[in-house]
Amino acid sequence: MANYIAFTAEHAIDYIKEIIKKELITVFADNAELNAYEFGDGNLNLVFRIADQDGNSVILKQALPYARCVGESWPLSLDRARIEAEVLINHGQLCPEHTVTVLHHNADLALTVLEDLGHLQILRGAQINAEQFPKLASHVALYLSYTSFYNSDFYLSAEEKKTKVSQFINPDLCKITEDLFFTDPYIEHERNNFPTELKSHVESIRNNQALKLAAAKLKAKFLSSPQTLLHGDIHSGSIFVDANTTKMIDPEFGFFGPIGFDIGSFMGNLLLNYCAQNGRITELAKRRQYQTHLLTCLQDCYNQFEQHWLRLASSETTDISFASNAFTKDYLHDVLRDAIGYCGAELIRRTIGLAHVADIDGIEDEQARLAVQQQTLVLGEQLMLNATSCTSKDEFYSLLVSLLN
Ligand code: ADP
Ligand code: MG
Repeated sequence: MANYIAFTAEHAIDYIKEIIKKELITVFADNAELNAYEFGDGNLNLVFRIADQDGNSVILKQALPYARCVGESWPLSLDRARIEAEVLINHGQLCPEHTVTVLHHNADLALTVLEDLGHLQILRGAQINAEQFPKLASHVALYLSYTSFYNSDFYLSAEEKKTKVSQFINPDLCKITEDLFFTDPYIEHERNNFPTELKSHVESIRNNQALKLAAAKLKAKFLSSPQTLLHGDIHSGSIFVDANTTKMIDPEFGFFGPIGFDIGSFMGNLLLNYCAQNGRITELAKRRQYQTHLLTCLQDCYNQFEQHWLRLASSETTDISFASNAFTKDYLHDVLRDAIGYCGAELIRRTIGLAHVADIDGIEDEQARLAVQQQTLVLGEQLMLNATSCTSKDEFYSLLVSLLN
């Protein structure tokens, strides 16, 4: 990283002009007049939009050597930009329809030039406004099943798999998840963030030995179960959508981990929005209709994820030892149990840990917001406690419905 400097908008323009000259990108004409501005609303990186006068544009994302939201006191490896670009390239080959396109990457400068998805919306903002996306479930199911299957031991040879595991060793970013997801919410820690009204509930979580055991098991699996190349941060802020399109961005937390983590995180974000709507949509019929849509989305997504996996495993499995329907079913049953556990853990850590969601924090009425937070904690606890005893997806859906009513 000897040549690294953090960019300004002027640097971004000069850099894009350089790569146009070298014919490394073809979005702009050779003599294009470019303008640029920084608009990243994420926690960690710089994000510039560079545009010409004809409406062509690209995104330049650059990692800083520290976490942007905290400052230089929280150093972070620049290698995360390489990881992000390489996950996007890997996932983009397996599921181009639902992965943002990488136009150029420079590891020394920790920057990636991406297609501009500015014509789409970020899912979180859209779901806060209760917008519905009928294709979201099938698109996410396709993305998660294809990327997870083709990076798993079912498909890769043991040698290829080990090479890929080492390509995606991502200790700094994994440590953030290990701490924020699995550790902090269950202990007293200065990074935790919750209102005093939740103090007794938080204490009951810290004293709940069964829940802490479940959190420890989920963390152990996250640490040492390199089943597939995860996106690693599939929350509603990492998904761009419109009625017909779904695109994943921002896999800088990517690494080889348990398949259930991504799908559980996605389901957790749907449920955070579900609960948040209890404090947002006042008209009961309207709220119920939207919440039913969210639950259907969750179920469709998991059902289709499972169907794709069963089909891919029956036709594409390369390891003879794994080529049996009984083994795939058993394997997927474990994935489901993990997903339910990670889903519950996402609900808890987004309520009392460092990183919250705007779905809930943006609820203006304090009492309504507190009621939603109590609900996400109870739901998270029950999912984590019951995850390993769920024997089928239908049992999981029944559990969900009983907890949400
Ligand atoms: P961070 O890693 O810092 O969280 P993100 O990748 O989530 O950064 O990007 C932060 C914001 O930048 C996004 O919420 C979105 O508004 C914008 N952004 C990122 N990538 C793109 C893209 N390819 N097209 C349009 N906007 C983007
Ligand atoms: Mg982000």
